[in-house]
Formats: sequence, structure tokens, C-alpha cells
Amino acid sequence: MKKKMTIWLLALLLLLSGCGAAEGTEPALPDSPDGIVSEEVVQQPQTDITDSEENGQDVDEETEQSSPEPSNSLSEQTPAPEAMTPPENSTFEVHYIDVGQGDCSLVLCDGKAMLIDGGEASESSKVYAYLKKLGVNHLDYIVATHAHSDHIGGLSGALNYASVDTALCPVTSYDSKTFNSFTKYLSQQEVSITVPEPGDAFSLGSASVTILGPQKSYEDTNDTSIVMKVVYGKTSFLFTGDAERTAEADILDAGYDLSATVLKVGHHGSDTSTSYAFLREIMPEYAVIQVGKGNSYGHPTEDTLSKLRDADVKVYRNDLQGTIICTSDGETVSFSTEKNESVQTNPTVTATPEPNNVGEYIGNKNSKKFHLPTCKNLPAEKNRVFFDSRQEAVDAGFDPCGNCHP
Ligand SMILES: [Zn+2]
Ligand SMILES: [Zn+2]
Repeated sequence: MKKKMTIWLLALLLLLSGCGAAEGTEPALPDSPDGIVSEEVVQQPQTDITDSEENGQDVDEETEQSSPEPSNSLSEQTPAPEAMTPPENSTFEVHYIDVGQGDCSLVLCDGKAMLIDGGEASESSKVYAYLKKLGVNHLDYIVATHAHSDHIGGLSGALNYASVDTALCPVTSYDSKTFNSFTKYLSQQEVSITVPEPGDAFSLGSASVTILGPQKSYEDTNDTSIVMKVVYGKTSFLFTGDAERTAEADILDAGYDLSATVLKVGHHGSDTSTSYAFLREIMPEYAVIQVGKGNSYGHPTEDTLSKLRDADVKVYRNDLQGTIICTSDGETVSFSTEKNESVQTNPTVTATPEPNNVGEYIGNKNSKKFHLPTCKNLPAEKNRVFFDSRQEAVDAGFDPCGNCHP
């Protein structure tokens, strides 16, 4: 009886080990959640199977060494893996390209490339030249965060240089010349727009990308912005397009892990974006503001800058530093800038507008007080008297204003 039992058990073990081996030789299913996790697994000898199911899974993992090729439809993509240590020889960079007032970020990882926005159409040749300089003639992903011209205009330049696999955009049509030229150049490559869904994920080399927004459809084009998080090892990067408070709130409600090492500040630092609640969830160490010098919108606003100061975030700015390159080794990030590496990007005191005439003082004929031209309590035009120097004002019997302390 005992002997029979042992034989039966041996037979069962052999059967189970057979199952395990068969499973191990099968290619990993593309939708397997473990599909792109590459783990060092110590293979156990076939005769020492104690838990065939677990063993089968281990073998399964080991046979799948490389990431599956991304397909054109995001819904068929493999879910992005949890943060993992990038393999040796792996590289990761984000180029926050200076395109003046507009967004343009190039993510490069292990020979794969994703371009997020391209600035205005006037920046097309700059985007073209930038990709050419780096030899990036193929974009695995091109992302038009939303249909505004300061984001999609320059993508035409990219499409004239590089071939594209997948184009992501929150809409497939939009009534503007810029959008039409974007779709024209896409169709020349026989690429159609893929509208991503929140939660969609794909890999870019050994980095993983997750779509966090838009969570719904919006009237305001800025709120339709594709918001995405790129994770590389222990470092992460949040791209927000021009998403404003409404869209930010909906992303917060969706309950994603928003934490990121580097934040591309929403809407060029406008005060309509970067709500406290949103920033608190992201808790970035660094922020990049893609903004043009002397833009007519007043971007970045003191409102946003002060929040970033409060949160102790180190700020980089295209308007002051040109193109900004962030490199990650999977553990930490480092930055290099085209110019003004150590310029004060987020001063505690807002710079007051330069007075037209430096050294000019304005006196009040009635009160006999004199002011700086930037004082809030300047007299009415008709009561003003001008001095070239402080001494001149004092000599004329005028007293300094108690507010602006000239
Ligand atoms: Zn914009
Ligand atoms: Zn916009």
C-alpha cells in the first residue's frame, strides 16, 4: 500500500513537472502583467519540484528577457511594469527644448524616442534641426498634448525629419491650420492619431509611460491636455501640457500615484494651473517651466513661482536658460542647461518692472513728497514734478515717500 502511494506520488510529480516545463517553453503572452519584468531567477532542478505552479511562473519570467515591441494601438499595449532597476548600458534623457513660448520635450531611452509637443509652427525648423543634430530620425511616439498651436505647430518640423510609429493626441480633428498641417504630415507617413485612455501604459526602452489624463472631455482645450508620467528606475517625470485646475482636480480624484522627481510645470507657469493640491501630490524635487522670454501672457506667474518656492522645488526655465537636459541613471537625476546654469530662476522678491528712466524721481507738487517711479502712491499726472537725482529732490525741499523709500 505504502509503495503504491509513493509510485502514485512520483507519477503526479512527473506530470506536474511536465506541465511546468511545457509552460516555460511557451512564449510569454503579450498581455501577461509580468511580461516585461526581467528578474534574475535561480532555476531549480526539475526533480526538486515542490510547487509546480510557482516554478512554472518563474520559468515563464525568465524566458521573457526583452520588452515587447509597442504596437500602434494603445489598448493592445502591455501594462507598464512597476519601477524597476534599468539594465546595464541603459540610458535616459529628457530634453526640454527651448522653443520660446511653447512646449517641446524629447524623451530618449535605450535608443527609443518620444517627442512631446513641438512649439509654434515658427519653431518647426528648430525642432527639425534639433532631432537631426541628435540623429533621432525615428520617433516611437509623437505626442500632441492638445490642439493649441504652441504645442503642435512645430511637430510638422519633426514629422519632416523623423518617421513615427504612434501619434497620440486627445482629438482627431480640430479647426485650425496648424492642426490640419499636423494631420497632413502624419497621413503622409500613413499614421493616424491614437486617442489614449487614462490608465493606458506602454514602455519606451526600459522606461514606462502611463497616461493619467485627460480624465474626461472638456470645453477648455487646455484641459484636454494629455498628462503622462514617465518612470525610469526610481526617477519619474510628469508631463502636464497646459492642463488647468479642473483637469488637475479630476486627475487627483482618479487616485493615481502622481509623485514625480521632475515636473514639467503646467501651462507655462500660468496661475490657472499648478494648484496646491496637485503640487502636493507630485512633490517634485525639480520643475521645468517651458516659457518664452517676454511673452505677452505674463508667464510664469508669481503665483506659480511662489508655490514652487514654498514646496522647495528647484526651478529650471527655458526663457532664462535655453534648452534644458535632464539625465537619469535610474537613481538620481542631473541637469545641464544651454546657458546661465546657475541663474536665479525663482527669486524670492519679484523683479519690479524696469522704470523707463533709471535715476528718475517723481515729486508731488501738493504734498511735497517724492517717489520712485514704481511706487504705488504716485500723484496724479498733473501734480507731478520730475527730478533727475535724489539730491535734486531733497534740494527742492521734497521729502522721501514712506512707502517706496526713494
Ligand atoms: Zn501652451
Ligand atoms: Zn494651450
